[in-house]
Amino acid sequence: MTLIPPGSTIGIVGGGQLGRMLAMAAAQLGYKCHVYAPEEAPPAAEVAALFTRGDYDDEAALRRFGGKIDVATFEFENIGAGPLAALTGKAPLLPPREALEIAQDRLSEKIFIQGQHGRPVAFARVDSEAELKAALKETGTPAILKTRRFGYDGKGQVRIRNKAEAGKAWKAVKGEPCVVEAMVDFDAEFSIILCRSSEGEVAIWDAPRNVHSRGILERSTVPADKALQPAIDKAEALARRVADALDYVGVLTLEFFAVGEEALFNEMAPRVHNSGHWTIEGALTSQFENHIRAICGLPLGAVELVAPRVEMRNLIGDEADAWREILADRTAHLHLYGKDSARPGRKMGHVTRLLGLRGG
Ligand code: AMP
Repeated sequence: MTLIPPGSTIGIVGGGQLGRMLAMAAAQLGYKCHVYAPEEAPPAAEVAALFTRGDYDDEAALRRFGGKIDVATFEFENIGAGPLAALTGKAPLLPPREALEIAQDRLSEKIFIQGQHGRPVAFARVDSEAELKAALKETGTPAILKTRRFGYDGKGQVRIRNKAEAGKAWKAVKGEPCVVEAMVDFDAEFSIILCRSSEGEVAIWDAPRNVHSRGILERSTVPADKALQPAIDKAEALARRVADALDYVGVLTLEFFAVGEEALFNEMAPRVHNSGHWTIEGALTSQFENHIRAICGLPLGAVELVAPRVEMRNLIGDEADAWREILADRTAHLHLYGKDSARPGRKMGHVTRLLGLRGG
């Protein structure tokens, strides 16, 4: 891969908080970022050198954008094949397109993971109400119906408590192609966040234990409990196989359910991830910095923990209004994303605490 030296322009597709933190890390290394997003004033554009407002399916606009940058990356994954091809006409796209295409579809993602000898949650493809009813015989109930595409933060998901709810659930997803999954009675959730360089070097951060509420990440804690280590070891090995198989470059995240010593695969994201925000203060190099280093062909930074324990809590909706109280704790690192309207369920910021240090 050709080296993209500091001073070059990195194109970021998507304008949310992930893009914002990527742009901040890129600026530290002397890069300029050009953000492409459909919103009028997205959080990432505030901290980027350049901003183009455009829709994710506007191929002409993406082609022009691709001509103005030295490398393209993304923080928003749901871009169609045509627009992606338009974007990558001139500048390379990293992580590679194949990773994006697999992760865009919950079905192809699970099949791919099986091919890498991983174990997804018991699932079945569902394209009709009749198929859903048949699939529930396989998965049992409770189960969870998920649209194959365009789901995030619990969106596009319907829980099914018993077979009688199948019809109602199918109506709720409005005929979209889906997968149905067994509801897992897990011991814990955790994620593997790794970064692979263009030379094939892989760095893996300590796996955070993640707690979700209503489908949205509430907090991540590292290190995860010792009891999770056997499951984490298996998940790390799978994540390495996945990254190598895709000749991946950049940060890759895989989410898991721990059940005893097993790691059941939930989903993957070909990008920096909310459960890795703690790495900004809690690791020697953050997920954002290492992603920028990787896509520009630079060596990766070390990923070790800098404190005995680190905890990241999301500030969702009006929780961000408590910024004064949060700052009263001198050890808290407050991040606000500059979003103006605090809709319920919207991620407005996060707070990271390094624990077990002197002065903490
Ligand atoms: P997802 O967007 O698929 O990661 O789902 C968001 C969250 O919903 C997960 O992190 C879990 O907390 C919960 N969830 C999703 N699928 C399942 C499942 N099959 N069994 C149990 N909990 C689930």
